[in-house]
Formats: sequence, C-alpha cells, structure tokens
Amino acid sequence: MKLNPQLDQLPVYHGGRPLEEVARELGLPAADLIKLASNENPLGPSPKAIAAMRDKAAEVHLYPDGNVFYLRQRLAEKLGVTPANLIFGNGSNEIIEFVSRAVLGPGTNIVVSQYCFAIYPIAAHLAGADCISVPAKEFGHDLAAMAAAITPETRIVFVANPNNPTGTRASNEAVMDLVNRVPDEVLLVMDEAYFEFIDDAPDLLPLISKKQNLLVMRTFSKIHGLAGLRVGYGIGHPDFVAALEKIRQPFNLNAMAQAAALAALEDDKHVQSTRKNNAEGLRFFENAFSDMGIETVPSHANFILAKVSDGKTVFEQLQKIGIITRAMGGYGLPDWIRISIGTPLENGRCLAALADLR
Ligand SMILES: *Cc1c(COP(=O)(O)O)cnc(C)c1O
Repeated sequence: MKLNPQLDQLPVYHGGRPLEEVARELGLPAADLIKLASNENPLGPSPKAIAAMRDKAAEVHLYPDGNVFYLRQRLAEKLGVTPANLIFGNGSNEIIEFVSRAVLGPGTNIVVSQYCFAIYPIAAHLAGADCISVPAKEFGHDLAAMAAAITPETRIVFVANPNNPTGTRASNEAVMDLVNRVPDEVLLVMDEAYFEFIDDAPDLLPLISKKQNLLVMRTFSKIHGLAGLRVGYGIGHPDFVAALEKIRQPFNLNAMAQAAALAALEDDKHVQSTRKNNAEGLRFFENAFSDMGIETVPSHANFILAKVSDGKTVFEQLQKIGIITRAMGGYGLPDWIRISIGTPLENGRCLAALADLR
C-alpha cells in the first residue's frame, strides 16, 4: 500500500495512561490508583448529567439528533450567541480536525507557540501543512511574536488560553491585540478548554459576528467532567460554521453525550465546586512545592507543571506506586511533570509520594 507521505514523520499522540491499563500492569485494583494525568474533573461528572444519561440509555437504539437541537439552543442562549454560531465536535479535538481540513493543505502553514497543545502540529502535518513554532516567553505564548510570524502561507494561528501543558495565560490586552492583528484571511483559533477556571477571561464572543476568521473552542471535558463522552464545540461566524458543517459527520455527537452535556449546563453548583476544589488544590501544590524548593509554572488551569529534575524517571516512580501523572519530554520539557489537580486526598497522596522520592 502507498500511505500518504505525511504519515511518515507523524508521531502518535499519547494521552494520559488509562487507570485500568496501569492497574492491569501493576496487578492492583483500579480503585487503589489515582490518575492526575489528563486534567479531568476529580469530582466526576455532574449528578444531573448522570441522571440524564440513565434516562437516555433506553433510547440508544435510535440515532442521535444530528443537529444537536436541544443542546445547541440552550448553549446558544447561555452564551448569548445564535444557534448558527455553534459547531459541535466529538471533543474539541474534532473541531481542530474540522478547521484543519477546511483550510490547510500542502504549501500552507500554521503558527503556534513553543509548548503548545500537541494536537495542533499533528493536525497540521496530517493535512500536509507546515508548523511555525514561535519561542515561548516564560513558558507562555508570545502573542505579538506569533502575529509577527504569520506568513502569506499561514492559514491558522492556534492559541490555547490558558495553555496546556504550561497553565500560562496571556493578558486580555495581548489577546485583543492579536485578534486585531491577525489578517482577515488567516483563521485565529482561540482554544478556551480551561476558560471556566479563570475569572476575568477575555470576552471574545461579541466579536464572533464581525470576524469571520475567529473561532473560539470550548469543551465539556474539563470543568464539566464529561471527558469520556467527547463533547466540544466551536463558536464562530455563521458562514464559517456552515463551511465546517460540511466536514462534520452527521452523527458525531452521540445521544448520551448530548443528554449529559445539556444537563451539565444546568448544574452551576457542580461547576462552582469544581472551581473551588481546583483553586484550593492549585494553592496546595504551589505552596508545598515552593516549600520543597521545587520550581513550578504559575498555573491558571486545572493542572500544574513541576520541575522534578528527570521527569520521565519521576513519572515512572510515581506510576509504580499507583499515581499516574504526565511526563513532559514530548513537549520539550524533560525536567518537568504535569500534575492534574485532584481531590484534597489525591493531592496529598501525590505530594507525599513526591516528597518520599527526594
Ligand atoms: C483538554 C484540552 C482540549 C479538550 O479536548 P476535548 O477533545 O474536548 O476533550 C482542547 N484543547 C486543549 C488545549 C486541552 O488541553
């Protein structure tokens, strides 16, 4: 067979290791392990979402609503946009694929930051496009330098704000500057997967109806605790959204996922407890690491980067005792591990284990 040549150099994306997989390897019950590897919600899904899925379970012999009617209506209402501004993806990862297929091809490029979310370059290379990576500034995106790096061949600028894996965020002023500087023919994707964890995020939605080249991405995977269901969405100009709709498979959002996401939207209490647990957990790790003389990057998301000298070794040592974190070598940060914020119990156990290793 002749494979597409762009597959030759393409790495396989490795996510955080699943609990069951590590449990099998260690010969331990999965319940004894903790996973702080994929920025999931340690409080679990909203109870309202679980109830909605139970109700929906008896109906899964039917295809889902391909137009995602109810979730679309309610989300549009909550966001103050129109239903035609929304595109749903099987996780926001799928939206990254949609935009890549819509505008990238051989001879084009994307602009990203050093330490960017790993999926952006993979999606670009898969489409045969190049990737311009702009050096980070104190682990964060240098948005002015990214704007300056745009070439006539650039089709997309990807910015995650806050960013994964660094947890850094750009100032609202820098974001607005970037929005204004990106030329009309270049798509700016603002990936706001961790938007709900910050209090004073830039308000980009009022710009959506004016700027065809702006797409904001959000997800139910993080704050809403529905990562296993795969629900993400893009908010963009109706004309661009209509173009992306041609790429989307008709039933990409399954029926259980639609029901759960709709219910999760109505659970402010769960969102607030998640934010509170996260803020406290972040503070716990920041203080403890500072006391221990372990360097961290100030985080605005639901995880923290810690400089542990040899990230791969520490990751493996923690894993052996049932604590799954993420080694950062693949991101060019071999000295660091990324720890997702867990429950107080999980955070304490992870910290104690790290202290033991020193
Ligand atoms: C977790 C994450 C997403 C969300 O991915 P889903 O496919 O919606 O689960 C998107 N972007 C970034 C930067 C992330 O860290």
